[in-house]
Amino acid sequence: MRVTVLGATGSIGRSTLDVVGRHPARFRVHALTAHRDAAGLLAQCLVHRPRYAVLADPAAAQPLARGVREAGLDTEVLSGAEALVQVAEDPNADTVVAAIVGAAGLLPSLAAVRAGKRVLLANKEALVCAGAVFMAAVRDSGATLLPLDSEHNAVFQCLPEQGVGRGGVRRILLTASGGPFRETPPGELANVTPEQACAHPNWSMGRKISVDSATMMNKGLEVIEACWLFHLPPAQVEVVVHPESVIHSLVEYTDGSMLAQLGNPDMRTPIAHALAWPERIESGVAPLDLVRTGQLNFQAPDPRRFPCLGLAYSALRAGGNACAVLNAANEVAVEAFLAGRIGFMAIAELVERTLERIPRGELADLEAVLAADTQARETARQTLEAMA
Ligand code: NAD
Ligand code: MG
Repeated sequence: MRVTVLGATGSIGRSTLDVVGRHPARFRVHALTAHRDAAGLLAQCLVHRPRYAVLADPAAAQPLARGVREAGLDTEVLSGAEALVQVAEDPNADTVVAAIVGAAGLLPSLAAVRAGKRVLLANKEALVCAGAVFMAAVRDSGATLLPLDSEHNAVFQCLPEQGVGRGGVRRILLTASGGPFRETPPGELANVTPEQACAHPNWSMGRKISVDSATMMNKGLEVIEACWLFHLPPAQVEVVVHPESVIHSLVEYTDGSMLAQLGNPDMRTPIAHALAWPERIESGVAPLDLVRTGQLNFQAPDPRRFPCLGLAYSALRAGGNACAVLNAANEVAVEAFLAGRIGFMAIAELVERTLERIPRGELADLEAVLAADTQARETARQTLEAMA
């Protein structure tokens, strides 16, 4: 199986290459991409010897090309946004791992879908901002879409079949750790730092998703992602806080059965599951020790502490452009928070104000999605100027 990894140098990308590297007879790396980390991508090229290495930022491509030449690799170095799309749809790869962070991943992730690939989706923002267009492309191209997000991968494992056989499902329950601020008094949240927000208790992840986990916007994005992936209305997707992150999500059936998927919190499990599906392979993850785990706890999410979750549900119910606006405003807000420009609670405020300022509209096609994304970023930046 020939595998292309979009966003190879990130947290998901590195975990993917770890699993792939354990099965040299099964997987061959076709292309690796990154934003601008030439040294990181070169190191991966030396190990995995891909046909292509792509940097989104053309300015970073020269040192990579030099490194590849000096190492005597056959890897061809490409750069720019078009090159990302080119390798995503390249007929010589069958599997594409979509692990770029943010709406920046939309075009290459969608290109892989349109080319009918087996697409392993981590890039949830692509589905949040372009759900209807994305899922229509999956249907039209016959692509196989497999969720990497641990919750959605868990739900997938607990459903009888992909896309069909959904009779008898009452609801799905997405578990949430509650992040680093689950028990922080709401009055102290305004002053937390980016470092505190990125120190997740159970998972080690990129900075954007770490902040999203701390605000619980991540869970909101995942509710939207789940509705698209599993063809369910918002009322059938619920969130339960589960601080141990051992149950990765659950499906409840009408007969009262609840099926859950459990495991240690390590993304190599869902990655290995999706890479090999419908088979099972070694992932390198230690088996879960239930006796040592001892207790599993559950609580309802606190809407005062985590307003972003409510904003995501509202956007989902509003439909049209609302989820694209929510996502773009959140990206602007998280970036501003990480840069020290706004406080933690201002993230939700900026998203809410941006949603209020942009009238609802339909997203008929990809152009409309991209326009909504651009408009929301501009509005969010203006709103930010007024707030900061
Ligand atoms: P990360 O920041 O660690 O890595 C992001 C990758 O995308 C890097 O390779 C980076 O070079 C690339 N990238 C960033 N901006 C880009 C741009 N403009 N153009 C091209 N490439 C760009 O992020 P991550 O934690 O690996 O998350 C990746 C995606 O997976 C996100 O959508 C996230 O929500 C999702 N996800 C991550 C985890 C996790 O455990 N890390 C779990 C579930 C879902
Ligand atoms: Mg998740």
